[in-house]
Amino acid sequence: MGLGSDMYRQQILDHYKNPRNYGELEDPTFTHIGENPMCGDEIRMDVKLADDGETIERVAFRGDGCAISQAAASMLSGELAGTTLSELQEMDRDDVIDMLGVDISPMRVKCAVLAEKVAQDGAEIYQGELDVDKTTTEDD
Ligand code: ZN
Repeated sequence: MGLGSDMYRQQILDHYKNPRNYGELEDPTFTHIGENPMCGDEIRMDVKLADDGETIERVAFRGDGCAISQAAASMLSGELAGTTLSELQEMDRDDVIDMLGVDISPMRVKCAVLAEKVAQDGAEIYQGELDVDKTTTEDD
């Protein structure tokens, strides 16, 4: 294991222990919740859009689960601020794994992508393109 990967591990632990944007937004444009039953991860995400209805202004999350799932939510909440809903929908699991910077075993991929899926499904529900109560990564 090289130094680079060690640095990323430290970063994941730091986000897990000191999550950024943790909490609730006072007036979210939409809120969505999801879980990864394989691991017991849960994430609830509040998203506030700017007046253009497309640009993500702020993201807050609350959650419970393993370090990978919660660190990914913390990192993603910062990454998404200033991006657009279309850019969010273009993200895939490779973007999340790149963001985390470590090798993710197939079992842990569902942990890693949970936050991204919650944000994407929340946006699709908001845009009227999806009808689910809760996101789950179980069937991926
Ligand atoms: Zn997990």
